[in-house]
Formats: sequence, C-alpha cells, structure tokens
Amino acid sequence: MRIKVDPGLCEGHNRCFALAPDLFEVDDYGLSQALNGGVVPPGREEEARLAIDNCPEFAISVVEGD
Ligand code: SF4
Repeated sequence: MRIKVDPGLCEGHNRCFALAPDLFEVDDYGLSQALNGGVVPPGREEEARLAIDNCPEFAISVVEGD
C-alpha cells in the first residue's frame, strides 16, 4: 500500500501526524508529507486508512496501481 498527500489540498491541521506519526512528517507550518515515499509498512494499513478518513481536506489518498 502506498499513500500520498496532495500539497495543494493539505491545510496543515496536523491530524494525520497525530494519528499516525510513523507514516507522516510535518513541516514548521504543519503541512504534511508521507514518509518513506508513501510506502506503508506491512501491518500499518489500518493506521493509514484512519489518517485518510480523518483528513478534513481529503488530502491523503491511496496511490493506485502499485
Ligand atoms: S490531516 Fe490532512 S490537511 Fe491535515 S496535515 Fe494531514 S494531510 Fe494535511
């Protein structure tokens, strides 16, 4: 599973990082980026989905076709 954050949509609420700190990093403005090129380690898919479902800007998505 691979995820990505759309930088054009992310508003820096920091919620993804709060829910899944191992999957995201945030800059000084709270804007998020998926760690590890967005590759979700095995067994962490549920965390990734939690972050996706809780992003108020719908900025996180699963990269299809991997
Ligand atoms: S929860 Fe969504 S809007 Fe907030 S920092 Fe994460 S990706 Fe950005």
